[in-house]
Order: sequence, then C-alpha cells, then structure tokens
Amino acid sequence: MKRVFSGIQPTGHVTLGNYLGAMRRWAEVDQHRADALFCIVDLHALTVDHDPARVRRLSRQAATLLLAAGLDPELCTLYVQSHVDEHTRLSYLLECVASDGEMRRMIQYKEKSARQRERGGSVRLSLLTYPVLMAADILAYGTDEVPVGDDQVQHVELARDLAVRFNQRYGHTFVVPEATLPGVAARVMNLQDPTSKMGKSDSGQGVVYLLDEPDAVRKKIMRAVTDSGQEVGYDPVERPGVANLLEILAACTGGNPESLADVHDSYGSLKKDTAEAVVEVLRPVQARHRELCADPAYVEGVLRDGAEKARALARPTVDTAYRAIGL
Ligand code: ADP
Repeated sequence: MKRVFSGIQPTGHVTLGNYLGAMRRWAEVDQHRADALFCIVDLHALTVDHDPARVRRLSRQAATLLLAAGLDPELCTLYVQSHVDEHTRLSYLLECVASDGEMRRMIQYKEKSARQRERGGSVRLSLLTYPVLMAADILAYGTDEVPVGDDQVQHVELARDLAVRFNQRYGHTFVVPEATLPGVAARVMNLQDPTSKMGKSDSGQGVVYLLDEPDAVRKKIMRAVTDSGQEVGYDPVERPGVANLLEILAACTGGNPESLADVHDSYGSLKKDTAEAVVEVLRPVQARHRELCADPAYVEGVLRDGAEKARALARPTVDTAYRAIGL
C-alpha cells in the first residue's frame, strides 16, 4: 500500500481553498486507497508572528475540522507535528544537505519575507528553513505521495531533491516522494484579488472560511471581483476572477469549468450558483463540526493515539538517517 502524507498549518481559520485543494481529497480518496498520515503542522505556524494561545486553539480547530471533513481515525493517522520529535530530529540532518541558496529561491519565502520587511518587521530564520522541516515531515514516513494544492509543489520538489541527494551521499535511506494535485481547484484564488491565492492569513471579504455562515458565504461570493466583460468564459490568465468562480463551482458540483461557462449567461447567475454550491458543500462539514465541538476529549484522544502511531512509523527511518550520516 502506498504511503501518503500531508499537512495543514494552524496559522488561521481553515479556508475553502484548503478544503477544495487538499482536505476533501484526503477524506474522500487518500485515506481509503493508501496508508495515510495527516498532520497539523504547528511548528510551521511559528515561522511568522504568532500568538501562543491562538496557535494552540487553531491546532485543535484544524483537527476538529479534519475529522468533520471526514477523516476517519480507523483509516488514517491524524496527529500534531510537535507531538512527534522525529520531525525536528530529521530536519537538522536535512539542513546539513540543503544549501542556503536553494532556500532563498523558494517562492513562498520570497513573498512572505518581502511582505514582512515591507511592514518593517524582521524575518524569522525558521521562515527560511521551513521547507526543510516540511521535507522532514514527508521523508520521515517513507512517503510515496503528497496530496497538496498547487502552492506547495515547489516545497515537495525540494523534499525530492533532498531525498535524492541524501541517498546519493549516504546510502539509500529515503523514499523519493511525489506531489499529487486535484483536477480542479488546485489553486483557489482570493475573491477580491483573483491574482493571488486564497490564504488563511489573508483578511477581508476575499476568503471563504469553512466555518462561515451561509449568508456570509453568499455575500462574499456575490461580491467577488470579476471583470468588465459580459459573457461567461473560462480563461484563467485573462479573466482570473471568473475562472476562479468556475473552478470553485466545478469542484463543488463535479462538473468541469469550461462546460459550466457555457451554461451561464451572466456573472450574476454564475455567482449565485457558485454561492449555493459552496453553501451545500460546507453544510455537512459544519454540522459534524458542531457535534465534534461538544466532545473535545474525543479529539484529544484521536490526536494522542495518532502521535503514538506516527512516532512508531517515523523512528526507524530517522534512526537509519542518523547512522547513515555518521552519528
Ligand atoms: P494556507 O496557505 O492556507 O496556510 P497550508 O499551508 O496550511 O495553507 O496548506 C494546507 C493545504 O491546503 C496544502 O495542501 C495547500 O496546498 C492547500 N491550499 C492552501 N491554500 C490553497 C488554495 N488557495 N487553493 C488550493 N489549495 C490550497
């Protein structure tokens, strides 16, 4: 059976982008076809300004939402990154095979560090080394596939490079992983700025959160930025706002963006259908989330058992890497 690993950061409230780009596939496909691990990557949340109590709260919320989205602890392993020391143990070894130049070339680092410098803040060193820790997250488990959204592909490529380099220098230790992307909605865009992705640390009306009330979802989608055209057409480069709505609608209804463009004759009707489709997709997740919130001890138990399983899976690979590198 293939090994699958993926994660989500507790840096903000979980978005529709996280759900359509990653979480939904984890629940509907990956946990059924593979030996799958899903991780709340809380150490990664410390790479930017953070409030300790908020990170802890958002970690539990992400875990609860993953269960609400359909992850089944009988089928997969769900846990919190900081509960399993193997991630940081391995990360250090990988820092000794990665170069600072390749870290500085990472798009996400360039964007996030530029934003922080613009605001006059300093950039945490961990923001630069974040992709190495992510490589450790993946490689510690002998992962074959990493189901992610488009924004994480470059980081998975780095994990591949580091695995190959380590294996060449120190002997075969790591499985070389591959990223897998969803067919549609691999990059859900911000509704107010459809040239940038919908991210959970963005603020404002451009982001639909998984726990948004139906009316808030409708309002945000009805106000989405489109363009001055009249006819609905699918063209992600020239008409990113309309293309984004078509992708969201396609992901929610199982259609494809081009044919959905043909059946809508105005932006208004496209927005209305998209809003209703999103509301319907979120409804069962929100209902299950409410039930799970009433039983926090259950969620804690799942995370405790998950960490134990994850530790047992990671330790042999990480121990092998320590021996191989000369320790
Ligand atoms: P965020 O950028 O919201 O903090 P994470 O880094 O926690 O997201 O990513 C969790 C998963 O969600 C990853 O697989 C990532 O690729 C996916 N993802 C994040 N944002 C989007 C988006 N706008 N569209 C599609 N997938 C996304």
